[in-house]
Amino acid sequence: MKKILPLVFALVTFASCQSRDGDFTIFSPEEDLTLGKQMAAAIDADPENYPILEPAKHPELYKHLEGIRDKILASDDLFHRDDFSWQLRVIENDTIYNAFCTPGGYIYVYTGLIRYVESEDELAGIIGHEIAHGDLRHGTDQMTKTYGLKVVMGLLTGTDGELLTTLGINLLGLKFSRADEEEADEYAVKYLSDTDYNPKAFAGFFERMEKEGGSMGPLQFLSTHPNPENRVKKINDFWVLEGSKEGADHQKSFKQLVSLLPDNTTF
Ligand SMILES: [Zn+2]
Repeated sequence: MKKILPLVFALVTFASCQSRDGDFTIFSPEEDLTLGKQMAAAIDADPENYPILEPAKHPELYKHLEGIRDKILASDDLFHRDDFSWQLRVIENDTIYNAFCTPGGYIYVYTGLIRYVESEDELAGIIGHEIAHGDLRHGTDQMTKTYGLKVVMGLLTGTDGELLTTLGINLLGLKFSRADEEEADEYAVKYLSDTDYNPKAFAGFFERMEKEGGSMGPLQFLSTHPNPENRVKKINDFWVLEGSKEGADHQKSFKQLVSLLPDNTTF
């Protein structure tokens, strides 16, 4: 209980605190990081559901993906580049076409997503979108709406290990609001406009998903990232606002990336 009191105090004192999109949030960036660390630990402790490719065993794969991440993080449109973790991990499962980012910036990409995208620019856009959820602090907001303030504060106090284990994993399946989705798309375009990637290439990913929606795989991303209205058109509009940059050719680089994935992915 000891730690809950200052948080209740914070609720009263900082009642006007808002996240970027105007949603109410009482958590500090440090608390986002605390929650993210706990979720990352829960993921590490559950290799059956989250078989992480060890960075030490796949140094070239990680170097490549971290290169994409670092180009995005160099954008001046981030608010928490220096506050959050931005650790990237690959989950070995070719049947899941998804990626997620915890509060505090722990990024996870499934091998299935890397195999599903058609270009490195598309992948960079999705990673940018996940980074935006972390940087704009959509996760804590969503957790509070879904589980209630008391539960999230309980997680922050770290006193209830059971709660974290049951809930910590479920939190990864949190569904963002369409407004948060649109904002993450907007910021992905902003970040990528500061790189040599095509900032709107990831719109193609959503177009394909909608078209191929009948099969299970493509829809996984939409289960946690619901489509905002006119998503593709809005990504295009953001792209025009940011200067309509085309990006460089990354075909060779993308082929190399795919070749670095393990041959015999197990799931
Ligand atoms: Zn999203």
